[in-house]
Amino acid sequence: MADDGIHELAIIGGGPAGYTAALYAARGDLHPVVLEGYAAGGQLMITSEVDNYPGFKEGIMGPELMQQMRAQAERFGADIRTEDVTAVRFSADPIATPHELDTHAGTIKARAVIVATGATARQIGLESEARLQGRGVSYCAVCDGAFFREHEIVVVGGGDSAMEEASFLTKFASKVTIVHRRDELRASKVMIDRARANPKIAWELGYVVEECLGEDALSAIRIRETEGTATKEIPCTGLFVAIGHDPTTTLFQGMLDMDENGYLLQTPGSTATKVAGVFAAGDVADHVYRQAITAAGNGCQAALDAERWLTDIEA
Ligand code: NAP
Repeated sequence: MADDGIHELAIIGGGPAGYTAALYAARGDLHPVVLEGYAAGGQLMITSEVDNYPGFKEGIMGPELMQQMRAQAERFGADIRTEDVTAVRFSADPIATPHELDTHAGTIKARAVIVATGATARQIGLESEARLQGRGVSYCAVCDGAFFREHEIVVVGGGDSAMEEASFLTKFASKVTIVHRRDELRASKVMIDRARANPKIAWELGYVVEECLGEDALSAIRIRETEGTATKEIPCTGLFVAIGHDPTTTLFQGMLDMDENGYLLQTPGSTATKVAGVFAAGDVADHVYRQAITAAGNGCQAALDAERWLTDIEA
C-alpha cells in the first residue's frame, strides 16, 4: 500500500482464481490485498479428492489444495484478509479517484481490482444431500465421475449440463438415471438426442428427489412424483446434481456488464471488464469450463493484465 492509503491492487475472492492472482501479483511486487471472504477456498472446500489438478500425481484433497495456494500467495507477501466485501464503488477514473470496497472492517481503496468471486452450484436443498456431500453427492461430473466406475448413479436436472454430465458419466458408470422434475427437458435437442441414444441412460421424468439415503455413504435416493404422491427408491452410489450454477455477482449489478445468467463479461482476449482497472477471473466469468485449473489460469491472466494496466497508468 502506498503512503496515501491506496492499494495498487485489491482482489475479491478466495478460490483458485483469487489465490493465483494474488500469487502472481505478490511476486510482481504489487502488494495485493486479498479479501477472501468468510467462505474462503470456494467450491474446492466442499470437494474431497481432486485427481485432476496437475502436479499432484496421487491427487490432493480440495481443502488442502486451497490451503497450499493461499500459503503460497502469502509467502510472497499477499495481504490476505478473511473479510466479506459488502459494497463496491467503482470509479470511472481510478487514477484520480480509486475504486472503493467496503468490508465490515472498513473501506479498502485500490487503483485496480480483480473480481474472482466464483460461482456456486445450485443445491436441491435437502438436509441428507448436505450430509452426503463428498460421500456420493457431487456437483461436478468431470471432477468426480472417475470415482464411480461400474457403479449405478443418478443425475438430477433437465438442462444441457444434466444431459452432458449424464452422457459423460456413462464412460464410467454401469447405469445413469436422469431424474428431472418435469416431463419436458430444457436442454437443446442435440444434447437430448445424444442422451436418448445412449443405452446406459435411464429416465425418470416428472420426479423430484425427496431424500438421499445412506449412513456414511450414499446408497440410494428416494424420488417422488412432482404432480403426485407416489415415491420410489433408486439404488445408486453417486448423485450428480446438475441444476445450474449461480455466479456471485449481486454486488456488481449495474456496475459491471453481465450475460443473461449474471456471469461477468470479459473483454475478448483479456480479463478486463468495461470499467477501467477492474478485471474478472475464474468461474464468475466462466460458465463453460468451471475447473480449478481453468480458474487458476484465468487468475494468473488477470494478475498479468492488472500489472500491465498499472504500469501503463504510471508511465
Ligand atoms: P439450466 O439450463 O438452468 O438448467 C437447470 C435445470 O435444472 C433445469 O432443467 C431446471 O428445471 C432444473 N432445476 C433447477 N432448479 C432445480 C431444483 N431446485 N430442483 C430440481 N431441478 C431444478 O442450467 P445448466 O444445464 O447448468 O445450463 C446453464 C447454461 O449453460 C445454459 O445456457 C446451457 O445451455 C449452457 N450449457 C451448454 C452446454 C453445451 O452446449 N455443451 C453444456 C452445459 C451447459 P426446469 O427445466 O424445470 O426449470
